[in-house]
Amino acid sequence: MSALQFDPNSELNQNVLSRFFVDGQWVQSRSNEFASLVSPSTETEFALVPLAGIGDVDSAVDAARRAFDTGPWPRMSGADRAAYLRRISMALAARLPLLSRIWTAQVGAPVGFADIFTQTAPAMLDYYAELASTFEFEEVRSTRGGQARIIRQPVGVAALIAPWNAQLPILSYKVGAALAAGCTVVVKAPPETPFDALVMAECVHEAGLPPGVFNVITSDAERGAYLVAKQDVDKVSFTGSTATGKLIAKACADRLARVTLELGGKSAAIVLEDADLNATLAALAPVTMPFSGQICFAQTRILVPRSREQAFIDAYSAVIGGLEVGDPWNAATQIGPVASARQLDRVMKYIEAGSAEGARIVTGGGRSRRLETGFFVEPTVFAGVTPRMTIAREEIFGPVVSVIAYDDVDHAVALANDSDFGLSGTVFTSDLDHGCAIARRVRTGNVSVNAFEIAPNVPFGGFKQSGVGREGGPEGLSAFLEDQAIYRPDSSMRAPGGPQ
Ligand code: NAD
Repeated sequence: MSALQFDPNSELNQNVLSRFFVDGQWVQSRSNEFASLVSPSTETEFALVPLAGIGDVDSAVDAARRAFDTGPWPRMSGADRAAYLRRISMALAARLPLLSRIWTAQVGAPVGFADIFTQTAPAMLDYYAELASTFEFEEVRSTRGGQARIIRQPVGVAALIAPWNAQLPILSYKVGAALAAGCTVVVKAPPETPFDALVMAECVHEAGLPPGVFNVITSDAERGAYLVAKQDVDKVSFTGSTATGKLIAKACADRLARVTLELGGKSAAIVLEDADLNATLAALAPVTMPFSGQICFAQTRILVPRSREQAFIDAYSAVIGGLEVGDPWNAATQIGPVASARQLDRVMKYIEAGSAEGARIVTGGGRSRRLETGFFVEPTVFAGVTPRMTIAREEIFGPVVSVIAYDDVDHAVALANDSDFGLSGTVFTSDLDHGCAIARRVRTGNVSVNAFEIAPNVPFGGFKQSGVGREGGPEGLSAFLEDQAIYRPDSSMRAPGGPQ
């Protein structure tokens, strides 16, 4: 593969490549710090991008504060904000091929995968545009003394932080809901994937949003921590690891800033006794290690009836062993590299821990022997996994899946729920009603029966240590709103203390 597959200098606007977007302007970083972007498939640097210093964080938050306190955005009708959201969506839609290439270049997502999932971005903005134009931002209720007007006010300045793995789709959930609600935002892009948010800023600029409503800086964790602790940030919407989520919750607790956390997962697929093997594999295999397993909802524990364990392992490992591993720029590739040297190291340590604790590698198990350059890990399936093993408990975030045998349905549900996480899950069966009944017993925010789906109008998020709050649907909009009640007496009633 050639390093010239993506050329930032010719494909990206200089603003996207070297500036931040603050207060409606493209601005230079005030710090002298940079992040090196390394291609996961060639291991060579392909761009050097500025990182924010404290002054950059301050000016972005100040701009968002001014736009919220004195600008038109929070005071516009939902329908007016919806018109802007639709314009952003159209601008994004026109850039989907570029956004897909950015995803592949930055973190090695196979082009076929990136082409499909970039489409989430305009879809989410369209969904929130539609919701903003129909949502009841005000409602009147009768009271004993007259009436109360319930006003769903925007919560204020929102810091939006999303991880490197799926920066564009995750950001589009947050941006769509926050802007629809009337919040002003500071997006903190991660140093690994700065370009998605900055291309979104181009779209916002093109859509003509008032200055300060949408601001983007790129920063490391230290400046991220500085951002979430700022007094002027009213709300933090964070997606990332559970460890960072806990730090952010603590920082927000100090001033009781509102916080939504979308965190890690260790999701279980329950294959029931009556499930058809081929249909199950067709629906399940693609969501066990999408994007080399670097997706929060990956179904990384497969629970199978003990009586069908060997048949399942044979069939599943044949599918996984046959996946096309290679150059993420090749349309036929199903598994590309993991995103970084740090990810490679992390995943290899988990594979070693699995073997050391007594699990058995059925397929994969190491760095790719065929591809000498690039952070390639063979898609790996472990059998003989017990629930206490590290690989059954911790989020690996790589192409590594455990198959675990169960004795009966109650045991399967207990195994699925035996986790600190509670993000996603699946049930496979030939009896949909029975599958849905089992799904209700799984303690996770989302469960799909037979066919995996995530829809814009449906809340997504985690039970337990997979998060707090929800994104998507009206629930995601509510996360950026505060309810205010204004009481007024009935005009036909006399004022208290007035003439009798
Ligand atoms: P991470 O927590 O290390 O970083 C995420 C973001 O937070 C980055 O932008 C980082 O710069 C920033 N950050 C780090 N420390 C911070 C701090 N103290 N204060 C403020 N910001 C800080 O996560 P990661 O390794 O980049 O991402 C992978 C994780 O994200 C996995 O655990 C995965 O499951 C999770 N994830 C969850 C969802 C979901 O919807 N639940 C979706 C995608 C990814």
